[in-house]
Amino acid sequence: MATPSVLRAIRFSPRTATSTASCSRSRRFTTSTTLSSASSQMRMLIVGSPGSGKGTQSTRLLSHFSFTILSAGDVLRSHISRGTEIGLRADSVIKSGSLMPDDIMMSLIGSSITSLSSSDWLLDGFPRTLGQAQMLDAMLSSKSSDLQLVVNLDVPEEIILDRILNRWTHLPSGRVYNLTYNPPKTPGKDDITGEPLSKREDDNVETFANRLKSFHKQTEPMLQHYREKSGSILDIDCRVETDPQSVEEKGELFVNLRGDTSNQIWPHLLKIVKGRFPHLKPSQSSA
Ligand code: AMP
Repeated sequence: MATPSVLRAIRFSPRTATSTASCSRSRRFTTSTTLSSASSQMRMLIVGSPGSGKGTQSTRLLSHFSFTILSAGDVLRSHISRGTEIGLRADSVIKSGSLMPDDIMMSLIGSSITSLSSSDWLLDGFPRTLGQAQMLDAMLSSKSSDLQLVVNLDVPEEIILDRILNRWTHLPSGRVYNLTYNPPKTPGKDDITGEPLSKREDDNVETFANRLKSFHKQTEPMLQHYREKSGSILDIDCRVETDPQSVEEKGELFVNLRGDTSNQIWPHLLKIVKGRFPHLKPSQSSA
């Protein structure tokens, strides 16, 4: 059995692979990514199964640092609310719990990335498939601006189901509330604007089951792609490792943060983002 310190923060690499399931995956790692200087732009992905807290963690980061979040789900919801052609298609795709075609998603997110040019950005919910990852990598590499960090939020499914069923959203801003962990100050109302909160149509058990199925089928190959690209990965069990400062990092591209709640994961995420992108300015709300 692994020692507690190994369980807490495991760095998988081809040379240190052992017999555990996760480590055996790492035996196939063939390449390694060299990160550019620590002051390079923020080009980061936050990935994880539906309901793993991508939106919550991205919003928390945004309350600390000045950068841009591109949320694939929000882009699609904005098309739906504007009644565009893409929105009409996205509406039925989202309700059925499946995924939009890769080329449409790449063109939506790709044009947003291009318009951000040299700004710092984080992508939430894109890429979700291996095809999208390959298209994104090709686009970034043609601009000599490779990804710097891929954070996977690794949260158990039973916990996610509870979150989905208790989740209410302020649709115009994307602010999310959970009736158990993070209730609004006034029931049913957004804390900032006082506007009504809504239940997302895809936040129900049947759609959730479909979303999880498509997540595992489509997204796991994308995760594996970035694990392999990373060469070695940093895997932190945020449930037992409570002091982020004690976790040693080596600039791994792929960081897996395992936890039951967003509050467990958050301090680790904050420390990693601060360390990787020290040039980020404080956000106006935190200044
Ligand atoms: P999210 O808000 O990230 O949970 O996304 C809501 C829904 O939008 C997903 O369940 C998918 O149907 C669709 N969607 C979001 N991002 C993507 C993507 N990168 N590729 C395909 N479909 C997506």
